[in-house]
Amino acid sequence: MERSNLTSEKNLQFPSIHEGNLILVNPDYPCQSQLSRLNEVRPAQNTVLLEDQASRALMELFDRLEIVDEIVCFDGYRTHQQQIELYQNSLEENGQEYTEKFVAKPGCSEHECGLAIDLALNQDDIDPICPSFPDHGICGLFRKQAASAGFIERYKESKKEITKISGEEWHFRYVGIPHALIMLETGFCLEEYIEWIRNYPLTRHPLYYEGWTIGYVSQDMPLPKLDKNLECSISGDNVKGWIVTCAGHVKFDTVE
Ligand SMILES: [Zn+2]
Repeated sequence: MERSNLTSEKNLQFPSIHEGNLILVNPDYPCQSQLSRLNEVRPAQNTVLLEDQASRALMELFDRLEIVDEIVCFDGYRTHQQQIELYQNSLEENGQEYTEKFVAKPGCSEHECGLAIDLALNQDDIDPICPSFPDHGICGLFRKQAASAGFIERYKESKKEITKISGEEWHFRYVGIPHALIMLETGFCLEEYIEWIRNYPLTRHPLYYEGWTIGYVSQDMPLPKLDKNLECSISGDNVKGWIVTCAGHVKFDTVE
């Protein structure tokens, strides 16, 4: 794709389809993002890292809910090697059936992209694979407010046929605002949401949701011009295109 320097200076650049907070990561679509920046999140028993935007959103939500140490960040970013070890250890300790239910295959874990956080109720003896994160008390409050900070409960038991992972009430995935709110409202898991949002091509009929304009751009189509002055962010879907999210009601032209 060729674009002049002048154009690229004025317009937002599309990242790789493997980058961004809306990438779909599952057994069919492995994590291929190049992490640029990780930050430490707290409280935690060991060092727990998350991608920059996700970490800031999580810490802001903890502040807002006045969480001091009732909840701990149990696990965040994992290197590919750590995911391999976790998977192998669980196979040895828990067997194949249990491991396949709860541990993503190495390469296919959202933890390797830095966008997933496992939270645990702060207590002695936290289960390393299935930490307790109940529906009531402070955990319940966090669960209710998670979407307002851009987090979704990624693996619901009711969606396990689609996600291929059993219910994990402790695993939260950062997708950003307003996507987490729309997913909460529609009940879509990320697989369903990514498919559904393709019905809203950015340049023809985007989705207008609250104060946002959201649209899909396929990698097979000409890229629209997105002026840098617009408040837009672009995320790959890790499948075949991008999701563009803009503040306000925006209309776009296609590039011929
Ligand atoms: Zn997890």
